[in-house]
Amino acid sequence: MRLLEGKSPAESLKADVMSRARALAAAGHPPRLAAVLAGRNEASDLYIARKERLGRSLGIAVEAHRLPDAKEDELVSLVRQLSLRPDVDGIMVEQPLPDPAWRDAVVRAIDPFKDVDGATGFTGGLLGGQPAGLVPATPLAVMHLLQYYRIPLRGAHVTIVGHSPVVGRPLALLMLREDATVTVCHKATRDLAQFTRQADILVSAAGVPGLITGDMVRPGAVVVDVGINLVSGRTVGDVDFESVAPVASAVTPVPGGVGPLTTVMLLANTVLAAERRCPALTQSAAD
Ligand code: NAD
Repeated sequence: MRLLEGKSPAESLKADVMSRARALAAAGHPPRLAAVLAGRNEASDLYIARKERLGRSLGIAVEAHRLPDAKEDELVSLVRQLSLRPDVDGIMVEQPLPDPAWRDAVVRAIDPFKDVDGATGFTGGLLGGQPAGLVPATPLAVMHLLQYYRIPLRGAHVTIVGHSPVVGRPLALLMLREDATVTVCHKATRDLAQFTRQADILVSAAGVPGLITGDMVRPGAVVVDVGINLVSGRTVGDVDFESVAPVASAVTPVPGGVGPLTTVMLLANTVLAAERRCPALTQSAAD
């Protein structure tokens, strides 16, 4: 069984992001991400600190806005200002919000062209036509990982467990773009194992620890674990590694698989948003 770690593909992506960030700075448009944390959440605080560090090392300014006692209108007004600010290319509002009912108003305040996390559901022309907006970072990270490890997608049967707007749905469309055959499962799917067992590539993004066990995996399948769950202070995925590892040909670990790549992809999206907003670069691409 091959362990598909996120570290090496993340390094290759970082090199690309860094050189593009340098080109943007040289063109007078240094890329900038605004990360917003409303309320108090230790995990989100750590994620923001990680983005700040990574951004610094790649030449992307990451400004953190921590609003521990924010009310809904303060948060919405901050996000609106960030959407209007010409020097901000990407906006990411950490989840969970202090109150889930704030989500609609907050998301409406994000400029879709700065939506590096895919919160607005404006997923970058995935249905065809002109690319617009940005594709959410997590499904892009999954695609980058599979492409880095040269896992063939054309004609492969990909089963995705999870159909959220930020992971499962856009991932299904990205897979279709590569001519994979795609099955999407979710909470209401009856007999999940019937579908997971058909997969050449099984992706789990449900947020349920231990959901995928060895008997649900076709021998030789590639298993990608997107889940991040905190169980008794430990981070685990959706995949029961012990029982799946002897059956699968390759598995992504948690932690250390898709997660580290997603953070780099968020910064890659920031650079892409900046490139699209930088007149000097847009002009030279058109020439
Ligand atoms: P979500 O709660 O919005 O969606 C969960 C999806 O899983 C839904 O489609 C739901 O129907 C499905 N689901 C839930 N229980 C199921 C079950 N028992 N059987 C089949 N399907 C089931 O979550 P999300 O934002 O899409 O995130 C999913 C998981 O991925 C979470 O663990 C999250 O922490 C993780 N995540 C990881 C990364 C990363 O970088 N690795 C990034 C984003 C999210």
